[in-house]
Amino acid sequence: MKLVPRYTDIAKNFAIEDFPASVASPQLLLWNESLAKEFNINVAADLRASTFSGNEKQAIPAVALGYSGHQFGHFSPRLGDGRAHLLGAINDDKNQLWDIQLKGSGATPYSRGGDGRCALGPAIREYVMSEAMHALGVKTTRCLAVVGSGETVYRNPPQAGAIVTRVATSHIRVGSFQYLATQGDVEGLKNLADLAIERHYPEITDTGSQRYLAFLGAVIKNQVKLIVSWMRVGFIHGVMNTDNTLVSGETIDYGPCAMMNSFDFDTVFSSIDKQGRYAFGNQPNMANWNCARLAESLIPLIHDDDEQAVSLMTPHINSFAEQFNTEFTAMWAKKLGLVGIDENDTKLVAELLTLLKVHELDYTNTFDALTESLKQEALIPEALAQWACKWQSRVDGNSYTVMRKANPRVIPRNHIIESIITDYSEMGSSALLSDFLKVLSNPYNEVNKLVDFQTPPKSDHGYRTFCG
Ligand code: AMP
Ligand code: MG
Ligand code: MG
Repeated sequence: MKLVPRYTDIAKNFAIEDFPASVASPQLLLWNESLAKEFNINVAADLRASTFSGNEKQAIPAVALGYSGHQFGHFSPRLGDGRAHLLGAINDDKNQLWDIQLKGSGATPYSRGGDGRCALGPAIREYVMSEAMHALGVKTTRCLAVVGSGETVYRNPPQAGAIVTRVATSHIRVGSFQYLATQGDVEGLKNLADLAIERHYPEITDTGSQRYLAFLGAVIKNQVKLIVSWMRVGFIHGVMNTDNTLVSGETIDYGPCAMMNSFDFDTVFSSIDKQGRYAFGNQPNMANWNCARLAESLIPLIHDDDEQAVSLMTPHINSFAEQFNTEFTAMWAKKLGLVGIDENDTKLVAELLTLLKVHELDYTNTFDALTESLKQEALIPEALAQWACKWQSRVDGNSYTVMRKANPRVIPRNHIIESIITDYSEMGSSALLSDFLKVLSNPYNEVNKLVDFQTPPKSDHGYRTFCG
């Protein structure tokens, strides 16, 4: 594995050299063969457990990155990689750089008293969810491996420990900018912004303040796209803090995430999200809020005068809502296969969503049924029969293809993820997992085993997720 160093020359005390702690008896539990091929990773099978647990020392030092974060609205100036080590980056077969990071690899200078470890359940959840999201066409960090540590992690109750190998096109978060801004490190901010532009937005060629305004605009655009793609598939992130927001527009941090079953904008699964800050339908507002925090951090790069800087950035922040509305409208048009634009479309969508909520209809299954109803009779739920008459006048012969690409047949249902995690904690393996991953890899037209994986339990009411 040919690793190149990352982030070391951004700022002092930003990327701190630190080494993963060895674990007692590493055991490879999950290995992403197709990703390994894309990355030309040629680590021999018998060395994978020791390499991706951190037991094997690499030629270059690993680093832990500093970042701040607004967590549920409250600012913590010093979070950082408290249980992760960035080994370096590798080039894939398309010449794209990817950070390789171990999570659960031991304490770092940013641990703040935490044990630096990760429990097996959250590790498996991250692997399955991120692979599913990738297959669903949502931008996301991915997992190369999960290695069991052979050690106990002291959570309540105690659990088996694991190390996840996470890959991302970068680990630059909104919180990374907040970290340098809080320290008044303008040089570091500039270096970080330039790195982010080089990595993610090379099309930005402006200089001076225009360069960082364009960067802000590009991040906003990608956040809009990301949230729309989450909402298209019914994903609830659950912990959209600024430290969990990547400026690349990839989904990161699969701690308390979950998929919505019956449709309701107010759906919340996370046990700590008491106010519904990160509810399904509040995700655009929160992404907009996070972008405003990025803008605040960039002030010194925009203008010497704070007020001038703010007035230059405000139009970008304000454009979030309009961009979102445009993309969101286009999303529903695709999910419903609407032909052209009709002045009554907004009402048509709103009526459908009200019916879904009132009748507690499953989001995925309903859009799948509407899609397939264009090919087969009698699939439309009774409660939607009248509404469907209006809808049917808005589709044509191309609608099926458009809808099929927008509406997954299978999603990583919460109850199946839980069964897989239970299998692993009780038996150390899961027969269900490989079947499930196979089905999830083809979510828009997989029919095998569809029935097994498609039907949610009667209701997800009361289902709770926890930060890993
Ligand atoms: P997360 O909830 O995973 O987004 O983590 C929020 C912050 O807490 C990050 O700075 C993590 O590095 C840190 N953190 C979470 N779990 C641990 C742990 N077991 N040990 C040390 N730091 C942790
Ligand atoms: Mg250490
Ligand atoms: Mg996090």
